[in-house]
Amino acid sequence: MQDILKELGIKDVNSGACHGKWIDKPSGPELVSRSPIDGKPIATVIQASEKDYEVVMDQADKAFRTWRMLPAPRRGEIVRQLGEELRKHRDALGKLVTLEMGKILSEGMGEVQEMIDICDFAVGLSRQLYGLSMHSERPHHRMYEQWHPLGVVGIISAFNFPVAVWSWNAAIAAVCGDTMVWKPSSQTPLTAVAVQNICNRVMERNDLQGLFCLTIGRGREVGEKLVADRRVPLISATGSTAMGIRLAQVVAGRLGRTILELGGNNAIIVTEGANLDLVVRAVLFGAVGTTGQRCTTTRRLLLHRPIAEEVTRRLVQAYEQITIGNPLEPGILMGPMVNRAGVEDMMAAMKAIREQGGEVLYGGEELKQLPGDCYVQPTIVRARPEMQIVKNETFAPILYVIEADTVDQLVQIQNDVPQGLSSAMFTNDLLHCERFLSHEGSDCGIANINIGTSGAEIGGAFGGEKETGGGREAGSDSWKAYMRRQTVTMNWSSELPLAQGLKFGD
Ligand code: NAD
Repeated sequence: MQDILKELGIKDVNSGACHGKWIDKPSGPELVSRSPIDGKPIATVIQASEKDYEVVMDQADKAFRTWRMLPAPRRGEIVRQLGEELRKHRDALGKLVTLEMGKILSEGMGEVQEMIDICDFAVGLSRQLYGLSMHSERPHHRMYEQWHPLGVVGIISAFNFPVAVWSWNAAIAAVCGDTMVWKPSSQTPLTAVAVQNICNRVMERNDLQGLFCLTIGRGREVGEKLVADRRVPLISATGSTAMGIRLAQVVAGRLGRTILELGGNNAIIVTEGANLDLVVRAVLFGAVGTTGQRCTTTRRLLLHRPIAEEVTRRLVQAYEQITIGNPLEPGILMGPMVNRAGVEDMMAAMKAIREQGGEVLYGGEELKQLPGDCYVQPTIVRARPEMQIVKNETFAPILYVIEADTVDQLVQIQNDVPQGLSSAMFTNDLLHCERFLSHEGSDCGIANINIGTSGAEIGGAFGGEKETGGGREAGSDSWKAYMRRQTVTMNWSSELPLAQGLKFGD
């Protein structure tokens, strides 16, 4: 591990504030990053104070003025170089993600691959920031839309995708002509330092500063300052719904813009006749992967009654085979929770489940024999849709199994939660499938057929409805949120006709 830390430029004590050059001695409190794998410290970060934040923001704001004037394809070239640099350090960064956050190595690597993919996507996008042209109703007039860079984007990220979520925002914002200040989760500061080191090399090589900036600090200090800052026209925030509600109010108070990527409560519906082999594999990855700490984790399995017993039995059997332990080791399928608080939240949920009449079919306990204090059993609970706990997002590997008689009921149960991120149906019935994808079907931002709820590709717009916040990131036309639209009307005549045939003083 020492080799990896060295490759990524992680020292025993690291600065937590950077605008291309690290601020030597930030004046915020120390933060020790511990691995959830065994509870041991990895390294320390000196966090940014409000004063350090000001220095960083000032640089990002200044940098915007020159960065926005660089032609977009040349901005794309910088993002291409970022992608190349990430390729070089994919293995080391993937391992650090695993060490600091606790997801299994293949998922840590996959997260860095996602960063590389979004860089590639953004490079192509840098030549495709298209505006529409319209036919003017006035003679000798031309109308069109153009897209201008927006400003400094504030990126607030959650612990569970400590680097990928930053890159979804950063690669797109950069080609759109924006500079950015990143406030990562305090659970995963070292992965942010490592990414910033990678960015710094790219910036240095191109004589840039202030494009990719970092302030590590508490949400309630540095985070709140960023959110309230009028120099930041867009805040893109990923995290809990509670955080999003607070943040949305502050940003709305200054009429800023937000992209909110908040909690999910994702369901897989299985209809009679579906391929149950696929179902079991998809549920396993969806519910147990990342130890149930993905926004798209499968939290509810909604079963058509005729196949409910068989699916549940096969799932319990599959859960018995799950290997739990050090996520750096090959063969392990489930690592620890990110921290002790996560374990405690899960145990509180287990208590509520029992009180509300849920039946634990598998798991539900801590695994105290493993090192550190963050390991739990993946858990299956037979539940009823009206149980209050089923409507909450418990960020842990708890899967609620719910049965119903008709597909209409299953769709209704799926939608009857406050969140609206990801959804899936396993079916071989065309009518059920179309019903699920129709206007009265799934109300989520993501709707899949015969694949699970988690593991989205960067080419699509990612995000969800209702309490998930409504934001969209990554592919499709999500880039538009990072730019400002301008409608232009050009008159190339010597007349001044007014729209709607209006006459004024002639
Ligand atoms: P969290 O809400 O505790 O923290 C997220 C980030 O917000 C952190 O960087 C935190 O420091 C910051 N923050 C907290 N309060 C703040 C404030 N008042 N002002 C500014 N910043 C503040 O979430 P978490 O525990 O890190 O992550 C888990 C949550 O994230 C889950 O709910 C999960 O569903 C959600 N998530 C959603 C998506 C998505 O795309 N929809 C993706 C990943 C995670």
